Amino acid sequence: MSKFVYLFKEANQSMRNLLGGKGANLGEMTSLGLPIPQGFTVSTEACTRYYEDGKKINKDIEKQIFEALAETEKIVNKKFGDNSNPFLVSVRSGARASMPGMMDTILNLGLNDEAVVGLAKQTDNERFAYDSYRRFITMFSDVVMEINKSNFEKIFDAKKEAKGIELDTDLTAEDLKDIVEAFKVKYKELKGQPFPQDPKEQLILAVEAVFRSWDNPRAQYYRRMNNIPYEWGTAVNVQSMVFGNMGDTSGTGVAFTRNPSNGEKALYGEYLFNAQGEDVVAGIRTPKPISELEKDNPAIYKQFLEISSKLENHYRDMQDLEFTIERGELFILQTRNGKRTAQAALKIAIDMVEEGLLTEKEAILKVEPSQLDTLLHPQFDPEALAKAEVISTGLNASPGAATGKVAFTAERATEMAANGDQVILVREETSPEDIEGMAVAQGVLTARGGMTSHAAVVARGMGTCCVAGAHEVRVNEEELFFTVNGKKYKEGDYISLDGTTGKIYGEKVKTIEATVSGDFAKLMSWADKHRALKVRTNADNKRDASQAYEFGAEGIGLCRTEHMFFEGTRIKAVREMIVAKTVEEREKALAKLLPMQRQDFIELYEAMQGHPVTIRYLDPPLHEFLPTDKEDIIDLAKDLGITFDELNATINELHETNPMLGHRGVRLSITYPEIAVMQTRAVIEAAIEVNKKGLNVVPEIMIPLVGELKELKYIKERVVKTADEIIKAAGVELKYSVGTMIEIPRACLTAEEIAKEAEFFSFGTNDLTQMGFGFSRDDAGKFLADYYKKNIFNEDPFAHVDQRGIGRLMQMAVEDGRKSRPDIKLGICGEHGGDPRSVEFCHNIGLTYVSCSPFRVPIARLAAAQANI
Ligand code: ADP
Ligand code: MG
Ligand code: MG
Repeated sequence: MSKFVYLFKEANQSMRNLLGGKGANLGEMTSLGLPIPQGFTVSTEACTRYYEDGKKINKDIEKQIFEALAETEKIVNKKFGDNSNPFLVSVRSGARASMPGMMDTILNLGLNDEAVVGLAKQTDNERFAYDSYRRFITMFSDVVMEINKSNFEKIFDAKKEAKGIELDTDLTAEDLKDIVEAFKVKYKELKGQPFPQDPKEQLILAVEAVFRSWDNPRAQYYRRMNNIPYEWGTAVNVQSMVFGNMGDTSGTGVAFTRNPSNGEKALYGEYLFNAQGEDVVAGIRTPKPISELEKDNPAIYKQFLEISSKLENHYRDMQDLEFTIERGELFILQTRNGKRTAQAALKIAIDMVEEGLLTEKEAILKVEPSQLDTLLHPQFDPEALAKAEVISTGLNASPGAATGKVAFTAERATEMAANGDQVILVREETSPEDIEGMAVAQGVLTARGGMTSHAAVVARGMGTCCVAGAHEVRVNEEELFFTVNGKKYKEGDYISLDGTTGKIYGEKVKTIEATVSGDFAKLMSWADKHRALKVRTNADNKRDASQAYEFGAEGIGLCRTEHMFFEGTRIKAVREMIVAKTVEEREKALAKLLPMQRQDFIELYEAMQGHPVTIRYLDPPLHEFLPTDKEDIIDLAKDLGITFDELNATINELHETNPMLGHRGVRLSITYPEIAVMQTRAVIEAAIEVNKKGLNVVPEIMIPLVGELKELKYIKERVVKTADEIIKAAGVELKYSVGTMIEIPRACLTAEEIAKEAEFFSFGTNDLTQMGFGFSRDDAGKFLADYYKKNIFNEDPFAHVDQRGIGRLMQMAVEDGRKSRPDIKLGICGEHGGDPRSVEFCHNIGLTYVSCSPFRVPIARLAAAQANI
């Protein structure tokens, strides 16, 4: 029988995959000799088994759980189910990757009608005992029995109101007894059965519920956003309870060893006296900053400081700690590498190198590449910001500049964002159900809660701007408005948030482009030192190319020439070319395009300062350039000097049932080689011209959609002939290369042949994924949603290279291509080129470069370095 359950004292840091992060770290901290309430972990493999067995815990695992419980009883010297000296436990979720608040946890398990009396006697604290029981009933009912918490919250709040008190802590023992009675009545009313009294039954039901919570909708969503595979499962930690709700010498809190918002080196956190668990995070009472603990209890503060620096040094990373003080005694309940903003991540990584805690290479690995995204996004224009009116201020919980329309629910935020609006989600406080709304929002504003409230933690994790705990903001979630200092804002009104200062503006504020400087520039320079892959950009105009160059692009990996065809007056010449009936007519139209196209290339070469530029020849089906509306067709016919019927006939002729698999890419050049000839002229003449000014451009001509060697050969001959004639006539030396985009599965299968003609390959993984899976890129989103829900796919193959299938094709093309051309240049220019995991894959299969959109260039640079370390 394999082992599914491990005592904390049997566990350590390296067992993360098996025991989850929380379990592995509780084990590690136990062996470091820290004050950890003891317990055991039910492994992630048990979770997988639970699902395999049809959502049941099998007898073996159950037996191991009770054995571990018996061992724990010995350690803590209490007995589970002993009513005079009750042993209470928490049942806590904990996956391999941290998923804060996404799954469920139950506290005070083991209580029942008798044990609560015993607990009151034994601790001489009736108030505490009933406070624990009411919490347990609420959590157990919510998590295990799926009874909405609000059923109990209503009873609880009604009691507070009847007593005319604001704070939970002002409820007396008698009040709490009444509440517990009312809770039990409610429970029975909803479930038809009394609240479960057998602690062993409670325990198994709770373990099962935590396993179930691995697959709740918010966990599913979080997994997908963070690429956490369904197969991993969650572990369950069963831990002896320590109590922060035993009165004023008890309390609970959370702390970061450094500031998670800006990275400053100082203990940072919050705590609440006479409270338990989630009270701090839930924003029910406003917690005190951790610095006040120094005054309240200097000895504990000192001990906590020592532990936190010990843990930071041990893990060599900023830690996020959870602790509880029980009657003046400190316990650590959790440590993990803390989530942090991009700014903080950079500062902490760089500081730790300066402190000698990390090497440069290790520091590079500490920054999540995709996080850099937030630094590349627009900031407020300082001038516009100075003029804007501050309507209130909250906590600067997560930096960034956000402008958008107010939405009051996650659903509305999602709908509005789907309509193309920028949204700011405004909530009294957020809860895990809001995660999807937070993800689509530019920023999040909450009226309650501190720096470690749900909103703050999740927003920082997502890189979303957040202003939390803005107490002057009064949110009316029912009627969908908020007021602040007498002013009213409704759904759809514009506001702006400055997550760096916590300021709230009652209007739209102008934003400006970001730059790479300071810590960001420093880390990027380290990354450049340690990477092998080159990073290029996909750009087809001067602006994007210059932006990318500033972000560190080392060339253009994909210039989509058709984008240039839509601009200004060009579309007319393009349309003339399309409706041309003879080669001569077509050439006449093409001659009009030539100077414009040449000028485009001159600008791109100049923006790239002589770095390589890959130019892809015309790719889309021609009908994309023609109008579809009757009115527009009439106008165009007039413009072109032909009749409506003539033009309409041409349009009908070009109609294709499946244009993505139609007359496009190299196929166009086969039919109309004169298009490729014109593009060659433009590419070569532009290069000759800029090289006269001292640049040394080596253009790379890329033929799209090749699936057969002869296709490429046919067109390459014409390209080379044209280019060589121009070069000869100009009397200059100019190197250029002709290659192909690899995006048709057959091209991968015949790569050895194709490489005889192709001087480079660039993987067009958008089309390769589309054609490899047979999924239409434009429509797959609709049914992929079902694939995620049913755990058939974990992630979107259009966002991350499918390494097992599409990746195999790529690898085959790399290996076979090198057989006939050992020095073949290999790149990727699909969207995947800016996805960190795909970049790592490209590094591993030995590509020369990745090419991505300008804003992802720094991300790819960092990902490339991480892949090489
Ligand atoms: P999450 O993963 O959502 O943070 P946790 O399992 O960490 O959930 O539990 C949430 C909180 O419950 C903890 O931060 C801690 O305050 C409290 N808690 C959990 N286990 C115990 C325990 N054994 N004793 C006291 N408090 C506990
Ligand atoms: Mg926790
Ligand atoms: Mg393509």
